[in-house]
Amino acid sequence: MLNKGLTEDDLFSFLSSKKQEDIDHSYILSSMCTLPHTVAIKAHDMFIDTNLGDPGLFPGTAALERLLIERFGTLFHKKDAGGYATSGGTESNIQALRLAKALRHTARPNVVVPESAHFSFKKACDILCLEMRSVPLGSDNRMLADKASELIDKNTIAMVGVAGTTEYGMVDPIDDLAKIACQHDIFLHVDAAFGGMVIPFLDKPIPFDFALPGVTTIAVDPHKMGMSTIPAGCLLTREPDMLDALNIETPYLTVKKEYTLAGTRPGAPVAGALAVLDYLGSEGMKAVVAGCMKNTKRLIAGMGTFGIEPAATPDVNVATFVCDKVPAPWKVSWTRNGHLRIVCMPHVTSDRIEAFLSDFGDMHA
Ligand SMILES: *Cc1c(COP(=O)(O)O)cnc(C)c1O
Repeated sequence: MLNKGLTEDDLFSFLSSKKQEDIDHSYILSSMCTLPHTVAIKAHDMFIDTNLGDPGLFPGTAALERLLIERFGTLFHKKDAGGYATSGGTESNIQALRLAKALRHTARPNVVVPESAHFSFKKACDILCLEMRSVPLGSDNRMLADKASELIDKNTIAMVGVAGTTEYGMVDPIDDLAKIACQHDIFLHVDAAFGGMVIPFLDKPIPFDFALPGVTTIAVDPHKMGMSTIPAGCLLTREPDMLDALNIETPYLTVKKEYTLAGTRPGAPVAGALAVLDYLGSEGMKAVVAGCMKNTKRLIAGMGTFGIEPAATPDVNVATFVCDKVPAPWKVSWTRNGHLRIVCMPHVTSDRIEAFLSDFGDMHA
């Protein structure tokens, strides 16, 4: 801690020097986050002082959170779905499994998750002392529903399917998983952290949500394709009051109980997330998603002209390639299998795709 505080000028010149060390978004091709929409920034600023951990003090902000959940419930074909705003996919996944565990008591609980699941499930299983059973993928990079079925036993508290995998952008056969979940009476959590804001807006939406009777909970992240400010995730539950199973008593707050994981929770990104949804509407979101999908296809076709093969045929805007090198200063990522991975987020415009392809061509030549 500094003994004597800095002047505002010195402080902000220090902060801006650090900000300049960050990578410019125009070169970021690896992230599932993007530049927040201008209305999200405006709404975020407006609600910067709010704390949803004490909703009785911020009833207006709490109403926005309920509205956000209602918007997603409606989008996911269950208008009266329950849920709350989390800090992102990790918290939503932890809380979904925590809920599944609270709803089914077994001596040695296990969960059945696809090999392609996000690493947050490792954290969830560690914290909740759950055995993680991995389901292999088929040649199409989707979880094999039959294999999932084989791994279920009397100690299985939940099964997980991913709608838009982080690495390859695939949607698991959620309809088959939902049927299996119904047959075995098992909790099915759909991790749509990324795909939840893409799939409903595709020309041909793939079934993944509460329209399928077996789906119990859904995670969706407004801070990814929802273009909100960070941190904004949502956990949705089929039954409106399901999360009450996690309630603990809270002395000294304006509410007597809470089921959230965090105590103090920011209202600002919740306002930001709702602002984007209500400003764009489904027409606006469809246009954003159509643009990202078009850029994904263009990137795959463009790489093809250099003889670079795609590693998968993605359902959402994640492109992967059999390729081991890209030119500087582009920031890309590499999957566990060593494939080049590029996420065509809204800030990755068609101009940026062309610029990348041109640099790639120069390097490749
Ligand atoms: C991004 C992602 C997560 C984790 O979300 P965070 O917001 O980073 O915690 C979980 N699951 C999937 C499928 C994701 O794409």
